[in-house]
Amino acid sequence: MNPIILEVRGLKKHYGVKGRAASGAGAVRAVDGVTFSISRGETLALVGESGCGKSTVGKAILRLFDITEGEVLLDGERIDEMTSRELRPLRRKIQVVFQDPFSSLNPRMRVREILAEPIRNFGLAKSEAEIDARIAALLDKVRLPRDAAGRWPHEFSGGQRQRIGIARALAAEPELIICDEAVSALDVSVKAQIVNLLQDLQKELGLALLFISHDLAIVEHIAHRVAVMYLGRIVELAGKRALFAGPQHPYTEALLSAAPAPDPTVTSKRILLQGDVPSPLNPPSGCHFHTRCPYVFDRCRRDDPALHEVEPAHYAACHLRETPRQ
Ligand code: SF4
Repeated sequence: MNPIILEVRGLKKHYGVKGRAASGAGAVRAVDGVTFSISRGETLALVGESGCGKSTVGKAILRLFDITEGEVLLDGERIDEMTSRELRPLRRKIQVVFQDPFSSLNPRMRVREILAEPIRNFGLAKSEAEIDARIAALLDKVRLPRDAAGRWPHEFSGGQRQRIGIARALAAEPELIICDEAVSALDVSVKAQIVNLLQDLQKELGLALLFISHDLAIVEHIAHRVAVMYLGRIVELAGKRALFAGPQHPYTEALLSAAPAPDPTVTSKRILLQGDVPSPLNPPSGCHFHTRCPYVFDRCRRDDPALHEVEPAHYAACHLRETPRQ
């Protein structure tokens, strides 16, 4: 097992609404006690429906805001408490690739300037010649022609722009890349190319990836482990094979049953979830999933199930799974 690069412990991000404090009743619990770690060279996927808090987790790790509670450790150092000045040398280690390759690149900067910016900001080159050499190497890495450096973002397709976004992330020589729905806006064939590129780069550079996505087919392809989020909490966390072959939480079961089958000749029972995701402003009592769970029973409305190990390295938060299997 590779050393851990990122640890998130009991992370909470609550927002106050309509002038109320970000605590107690009236707070939106966007993230409500999330714990996981990522090792070097590993891809952890964070999945769930829109609004489940997965992107907020990514933003909290990037320190785009202060968290409400919990700890975020990078290489064993707490970064959630650091000032901007203390954080500056560490920012290089965590980079991000955003969903929209059209809005995430500055249209007024040529590709050379887009890639030179992190190299300069983090003091990774001593001269313009060295910057040019690094940019050429980055374009090679993401399989774009070197003359792309002299062109503008609007001259590229969506997939090519996402390659530029990945090159910009790599320019900082990161150890962890947060891919926030990084392939969601792309066509199916382009998605596969970008996912393959990320996997190749991971092998070559030993990168850790936090892959935030609602697309289970892509997650099954790229992830080593998967964390499923519902209403600000992780409800299941397991190795990819174990999770896809034998989901232990009813929500994961429903998500998987709704995903298109890789083999259209194989029919499986689709579990239809009733209703919408409840508001994180007023989550249901007990198990947050009880208003939509097909297996709900009395205790679910009263007691909040904790995430616990139901099989080796396979965790689920469901009362039905509380007796470890023999
Ligand atoms: Fe469903 Fe109850 Fe399990 Fe929650 S605890 S997922 S409501 S069976």
